[in-house]
Amino acid sequence: MPELPEVETIVRNLRQGNEEHPPLIGHTIEKIELLWQRTLAMPIPEELNNTLPGQVIRGLWRRGKFIVIELDKNYLLIHLRMSGDLRMETSQLADASLRPVELHDRALFYLNNGWRLAFNDPRKFGRIWLVQEPAEVLGALGPEPLGENFTAQLLYQQLKSVRRQLKPLLLDQSFLAGLGNIYTDEALHLAGLHPLLHSNQLNEEQAERLWGAIRNVLKEGIRHNGTSIDWIYRGGNFQSRLRVYGRTGEPCLICGTTIQRMVIGQRSTHFCPRCQPANCATIKQVV
Ligand SMILES: [Zn+2]
Repeated sequence: MPELPEVETIVRNLRQGNEEHPPLIGHTIEKIELLWQRTLAMPIPEELNNTLPGQVIRGLWRRGKFIVIELDKNYLLIHLRMSGDLRMETSQLADASLRPVELHDRALFYLNNGWRLAFNDPRKFGRIWLVQEPAEVLGALGPEPLGENFTAQLLYQQLKSVRRQLKPLLLDQSFLAGLGNIYTDEALHLAGLHPLLHSNQLNEEQAERLWGAIRNVLKEGIRHNGTSIDWIYRGGNFQSRLRVYGRTGEPCLICGTTIQRMVIGQRSTHFCPRCQPANCATIKQVV
């Protein structure tokens, strides 16, 4: 599943363009082809077809794991969920015939520059919204982990306000927006915190370490264009730098102890039992 660094990388490529395609911004959406109706969460397809064509793409950013496309009058929001992917391609082939639809394409946005944005999603969990205000969909999201407002003190207060195990809590998008299974496991290892610790057990120093670890792994993930692992996302190389995720049975890079795996809330969780002791009173300095 794409997490914050992967979505950030996708947004950056669409906003700036790259060697394979021009930027998305500044172009007009002329037509949308909805190939799987349930991909559209809001509004109904007829309203989308009446409202979207003719609007110019004015801005593009990320909020949590959502892609936000600002248009003249509306906002187009996209969540890739388990297997969604966005592809920019010319809509016509060299012989002037229309480019065929690829397997698992769910929606096609045709632009006035001869390109189209294809939303491909094999598992069909991804969703698209067209709304007046982003808050209609994004309003319940927690803080942005790389945002200025997300301070160590804020995280400490948030952790104190509930009594929940760290792993499921950090995956809860209303607590913090953007983390998924990979970066949560990585952040907990870097912070030296066991995934089953209860949030209100953490002292201020541990909360600050967790805050720093979350930001550190996300920034590193973005720097390496995300993680290309168990998902169709391509182009990232953070997978070669993972400390615990997917490394069950391999030695911890810090202490050599065998990385273990357990299932917490139906999510596989990877951790080092030595660097991340279950007893929260043990404060380890993890370099
Ligand atoms: Zn270790």
